[in-house]
Amino acid sequence: MKVTVAGAGYVGLVTSACLAEMGHEVTCIDIQKEKIDMLQSGRSPIYEPGLESLLEKNLHNKQLNFTINPNEAYSNAELIFIAVGTPEQHDGSADLKYIHVAAHTIAHYMEQDVIVCTKSTVPVGTNELIQQIIDSRKPPNLRAEVVANPEFLREGTAIIDFFHGDRIVVGTSDPKVAAIMEQFYQPLQIPIYKTDIRSAEIIKYASNAFLAMKISFINEMAGICDNVGANIEEVAFGIGLDKRIGPHFLKAGIGYGGSCFPKDTKALAQFGGHLNQPLPLLDAVIQVNKRQHSLPIVKAKELVGSLKGKKVAILGLAFKADTDDVRESAALTLINELSVEGADICAYDPIAIPNAKRILGDSITYREDIREALTDAELAIIATEWEQIRHLPLDVYLTHMKKPIVIDGRNCYPLQAIQQYPITYRSVGRPDKTM
Ligand code: NAD
Repeated sequence: MKVTVAGAGYVGLVTSACLAEMGHEVTCIDIQKEKIDMLQSGRSPIYEPGLESLLEKNLHNKQLNFTINPNEAYSNAELIFIAVGTPEQHDGSADLKYIHVAAHTIAHYMEQDVIVCTKSTVPVGTNELIQQIIDSRKPPNLRAEVVANPEFLREGTAIIDFFHGDRIVVGTSDPKVAAIMEQFYQPLQIPIYKTDIRSAEIIKYASNAFLAMKISFINEMAGICDNVGANIEEVAFGIGLDKRIGPHFLKAGIGYGGSCFPKDTKALAQFGGHLNQPLPLLDAVIQVNKRQHSLPIVKAKELVGSLKGKKVAILGLAFKADTDDVRESAALTLINELSVEGADICAYDPIAIPNAKRILGDSITYREDIREALTDAELAIIATEWEQIRHLPLDVYLTHMKKPIVIDGRNCYPLQAIQQYPITYRSVGRPDKTM
């Protein structure tokens, strides 16, 4: 099929590359010329494992092309995926300006009947609005059918998720369109759940809210464990044995971040407020996460007192491992709080330094070598569970730091391993070790 993807971000690029790999003829359009220039020359503007080689292969095969020209992108597309950003506004609600522009542009340039699938995460009613925008501006003889088709990929494993996701949600009131979408996705052999548009929109927000709730829940339990000397990993394993609960997403840490959970939980809470239906459970999830981001600062002060002028190594800037995405990363919140305390911050990350630098500027020092970041530090705080950090030999903390004091915000190290080294160590919801 001739497919166009609007947006060359984390979702748009993965969708484009994977649909091309499935054999579709894919055009990906973005409004950022520099991104498209990069992509046309075979380089990916984002880090996502496996993405660059898929892009390269399908560019070479001519299954995939990139453009900033809407006429080229939309005039003869049979299927269009909208994957533009829906960032957070000041009041927490989703900013739909990119969605509106995309809908206007599609209506203006379409020259044949088309199905428009929204992959962007959008509040209830948005797909109906997209339908209205397109209907009011498209050529009268043409049809456009808007489908809510929320995306569930996880950065870091996005390609695997595309080909082996748990489900594909298709929200439409038109059975013929539902059948076309079912046929389109059928080769993936992933269960397809067909529903109405509004339910599809809610499924996406409810999924993210539920997962965020699991994280905040286990983090609250970790706080209890911290207080009584229990071990959250034992607790998580024990409760996860109950099939009604399950073992997944019960890892304690310094809170969730990224481009989805923080923004989508706030947007849902804001949407509830807008409906005059407060969501106190969700509000608490958000509150717990905020508190969790500051946990290392509390532990740091207990361990070293004032942080003023002390060299602190931050290990990891990305919001999680295997991505260069630093949006709402716990590391960045931590760095802001440490800066207020007057700490001298040196941050390590294998991939995400350029993105972090765009936000933090030169207010801190950056190192791509973990040992250099640790050299002469009086405190190390692990903010991202990168392989490079999890597999760092523990004696590096002893040989490089001024004092081997480690706050492990992601519970990267087994406690038995830590016991063998003279390191002062704090993690989240596991027994302390003080030298
Ligand atoms: P992103 O910021 O990485 O990319 C969005 C892209 O859209 C940008 O390159 C931007 O230039 C482009 N764009 C904006 N307006 C455009 C227009 N009119 N035409 C063409 N391109 C346009 O965003 P993302 O992380 O890919 O997320 C996209 C959407 O998918 C959001 O709604 C997000 O909530 C949702 N989502 C994201 C993830 C994720 O893990 N990143 C997962 C599931 C769902």
